[in-house]
Amino acid sequence: MAAIACGRTSQGRIKITVLERMNRVGKKIPATGNGRCNFTNRNAASCRHYFGRDPKFAEAALSDFDVEDTLELFSELGIFPKEEGGKYFPYSDRAQSVLDALRFECERLGVVIRTDFDIKEIKKKKNGFEITSYSGEKTAADSVIVACGGCASPNLGSNGSGFRLLSALGHSITPLRPALVQLRLRGDFLKSLSGIKIKGSVGLCAKGHIIRRESGEVLFTDYGISGPPVFQLSAYMNGEKNLAAVIDFMPEYSEEQVFSILSARAKALGRLTMQDFFSGLFHKRIGNVIAGRAGIKKLSLSVDGLTEKELRSMARLIKAFDIPVEGTNGWNNAQVTAGGAATDEFDGRTMESKSIKGLFCCGEVLDIYGECGGYNLQWAWSSGYAAGKNAARSILCLE
Ligand SMILES: Cc1cc2nc3c(=O)[nH]c(=O)nc-3n(C[C@H](O)[C@H](O)[C@H](O)COP(=O)(O)OP(=O)(O)OC[C@H]3O[C@@H](n4cnc5c(N)ncnc54)[C@H](O)[C@@H]3O)c2cc1C
Repeated sequence: MAAIACGRTSQGRIKITVLERMNRVGKKIPATGNGRCNFTNRNAASCRHYFGRDPKFAEAALSDFDVEDTLELFSELGIFPKEEGGKYFPYSDRAQSVLDALRFECERLGVVIRTDFDIKEIKKKKNGFEITSYSGEKTAADSVIVACGGCASPNLGSNGSGFRLLSALGHSITPLRPALVQLRLRGDFLKSLSGIKIKGSVGLCAKGHIIRRESGEVLFTDYGISGPPVFQLSAYMNGEKNLAAVIDFMPEYSEEQVFSILSARAKALGRLTMQDFFSGLFHKRIGNVIAGRAGIKKLSLSVDGLTEKELRSMARLIKAFDIPVEGTNGWNNAQVTAGGAATDEFDGRTMESKSIKGLFCCGEVLDIYGECGGYNLQWAWSSGYAAGKNAARSILCLE
């Protein structure tokens, strides 16, 4: 996107080269949105959906090249959009088509794409920059846009080298951690729930308070939980200790209503054992875990022996099943990087470094990341557009 914005602004007056360490450019895009590429979100213009030391930094770029501009540009490039609850996908449901559209536009604009060029060093020279690859190749440029991504999913190209390059140029990097990633939880029972999917809500609890709650499909794994609401919650973890995930298995009902439902079932199903009490309400294994935690140790016990205290205890657990959080999965599983190049060292309107003229940054390498749902790609498009446009303007000395 940065190369396209630079090309459109300069109209052939600047030679633009994309240097890519992988054997193909944009390898991450085909993997996005489960292969469908959720390329923007109706609400992505507001920095409310973004994180970092100063999320407001994102505001100028997000409004300068906003969701409408993004949809317009992509539709000009052939991407017919399909909206699902605010999230936009290509109508083809093929993420590859988004990458193809960008590649074709680069080609039209005469952008040179050099793959297998793994940048080791960017050196500031008197006039411009010298860029050296790990294999010793050198190239020169008047301006450089660092669009190296973060550390998330390094198999797709972004191996954290952008942070090393910027750090060597004197820029500060805020602490990094994987985000939009699965949560690792502590509990012997997790293995027994592995593979079960529920539609519920999960709260992230710190010091007894729910700091964020998200709803949707939650998948239990042998190490913890996964799924869109869980990814979203991971964005809110900020190195706090003693966090807990609090699962609400029946978000549509209050605790009192759940108690009534359980009481009615106990009356109607008194002939059954606890083994089958939850059948038709929850997956059997979830029911067993809830019953066990409510103090009902023997699943061979008869349902008609349930006391009000046990029913209330199970109702409470169904509404707030808390599990201690051990942490998150690592970089290989993360969708984005929390942390990055310190934004107070860059101009949020142009994406240019405040200390090194001609050095620009965009996308995930900066200390900005968004919620799950098209926000991160929108940040990449908006900041990329600003960087490309302003790099061209500064080279051509345009206002
Ligand atoms: C599995 C997955 C699914 C996702 N789904 C979505 C989604 O549906 N919607 C959404 O909004 N976001 C999604 N994201 C997040 C989104 O893809 C990223 O935030 C976005 O791609 C960041 O763009 P970027 O250009 O900053 O970095 P990247 O897309 O990571 O691109 C960086 C490029 O720089 C290259 N590079 C790195 N270092 C060097 C170097 N030293 N020399 C040369 N080249 C280098 C890399 O090889 C790579 O091609 C997803 C992420 C993942 C991993």
